[in-house]
Amino acid sequence: MTIEAFPPPDAAAATRTRLAPAMARGFLNRCPHCGKGKLFGRFLKVRPECEACGLSMEGHRADDLPPYLVIFIVGHIVGYLVLKVESGYDEPLLPLWLSCTVFLLLSLIMGLGLLQPVKGAVIGLQYAFGMHGFGVAPPVLGVRGKHGGEAGTRTGNAPGLGNA
Ligand SMILES: [Zn+2]
Repeated sequence: MTIEAFPPPDAAAATRTRLAPAMARGFLNRCPHCGKGKLFGRFLKVRPECEACGLSMEGHRADDLPPYLVIFIVGHIVGYLVLKVESGYDEPLLPLWLSCTVFLLLSLIMGLGLLQPVKGAVIGLQYAFGMHGFGVAPPVLGVRGKHGGEAGTRTGNAPGLGNA
């Protein structure tokens, strides 16, 4: 008699969504497994599990990677724009106060706007590779979740999220 604590790795990989769709779903605030349930309960607060398929998302470890990537992306875009506007002319195109205000606001808006999608994409990447808490086999799509009811019909708030 054999007792398996975890399913074989091939079974887990077979039911897992591939990398690009999983990251795209996470980027769009959707569950990387089914693409139906929402990934975030609040701005950067990840739901403990998917409301549609029951995938547990408590084990994700996005940590500092999303802000690092956002700083990298925003820094390159805004840095390029600053150099483009401020160099190559005898006289500056914009007064200093206007230039500082515009680029500071642009950095703030882009940073806040990209943080949630980038974090979702990172969680999708971790899911697709079976990293951290996603190492176990995801639930089979189309099968009733552990809370009963059909997929997507679960009512009420997820535990621990309050009335967000
Ligand atoms: Zn799901």
